[in-house]
Amino acid sequence: MTNHNEKQPDQPAILGGTPVCDTGPPDWPFENEAVTEALQTVISNRTWGKYHGPNCEELSQKLAAYHDCEYAVLCASGTAAIELALRGLKVGPGDEVILAGYDFKGNFQDILTVGAIPVLVDLREDNWNLDVEQIESAITEKTTAIIATHLHGGVVDLPRLMSIANERNIPVIEDACQMPGANLFGKKAGMWGDVGALSFGGSKLLSAGRGGALVTNQEEIVQRARLYSHRGNEAYPLSELQAAVLLPQLKQLNEQNETRTRNVNTLLEMLSSQKAIVPFANLEPDTEPGHYKLGFQYNADECAGLSRDSFATAIRAEGIALDAGFRSLHKIHSKRRFRAVSDLAVADRADESVLVLHHPVLLQGQKQLAEINIAVEKVVAHSAEIGEHLSG
Ligand SMILES: *Cc1c(COP(=O)(O)O)cnc(C)c1O
Repeated sequence: MTNHNEKQPDQPAILGGTPVCDTGPPDWPFENEAVTEALQTVISNRTWGKYHGPNCEELSQKLAAYHDCEYAVLCASGTAAIELALRGLKVGPGDEVILAGYDFKGNFQDILTVGAIPVLVDLREDNWNLDVEQIESAITEKTTAIIATHLHGGVVDLPRLMSIANERNIPVIEDACQMPGANLFGKKAGMWGDVGALSFGGSKLLSAGRGGALVTNQEEIVQRARLYSHRGNEAYPLSELQAAVLLPQLKQLNEQNETRTRNVNTLLEMLSSQKAIVPFANLEPDTEPGHYKLGFQYNADECAGLSRDSFATAIRAEGIALDAGFRSLHKIHSKRRFRAVSDLAVADRADESVLVLHHPVLLQGQKQLAEINIAVEKVVAHSAEIGEHLSG
């Protein structure tokens, strides 16, 4: 006699089976003794409550030294960093700013905030990041900046972009919010562009709950950004408390990046026979991308037509932090808000089929990595049933 209450190990959790990872995805940030100590220090010396204290000063210096650049300007978020970069480059009303059709929504919003017009360019077929070969067709006499964002473990070909941009005298903002400390073509992420942007948001690799920074060698950008961020009531700066928790994390960043890279390689090896999810390729020489999100292209044909969102829901039910990617910018904004230089066919596909794995699991062990693979196998094998279940 079969016991109907007994859960089948290979039954997907979304159909009533046992989740592969019954503790659910790890919560970020992790416990961190060095951060606890830093907090104790700022409590005892009371710098936590100061407008201007030693922590921001030290973080700014350490970030600049880490990036081997002249200036690091701290600010309230990565979104504020991009806005300050635009202001630092004197981008204003009537100007055009080029960015990828699939990008962080705040970047599009920042361009509108300074009164400029976003100009959308399509993605590379192989890694679904900005296709720099299409930049030239987007440039007009109104182009005053290009935003290049490294997304989901894929990288933009910055050396090539800089040669195109320098020839035309157009400054580049490099959005390194997803990969602080990554080695890209022999430089730190953020150091190829005229100015780089970092985020210290609550889910990010370096986290203070909120926060951001600009890194650059150009004094004029810094002067304008500082002038803007300090005017009025100083709405843009980072706090002493935030700087205090970031200092020990910056110290740990290289080691954690190495662990993430090693674990990404292990995971991709495990997943290499999966046709349902194909990783954003990294075929660049001299490059080790960072991993805030590990991106995949979802292939519904391998899953009985199961939608991307249903696939993510089923994997989530297994206790794995896999989610849909961004919406593509042309899909969520009125056509009056931007100009597009092509039909954005690849960005269309990205809109429908990007999946991203959240990074905390990448600092865990072999067991947790193997669970991701098991969850994917389970959901793929039962995709037809899951489709019926979720639509019924
Ligand atoms: C997180 C992020 C930002 C900035 O985010 P904030 O939450 O404003 O700090 C910018 N660009 C990308 C690609 C990001 O992932």
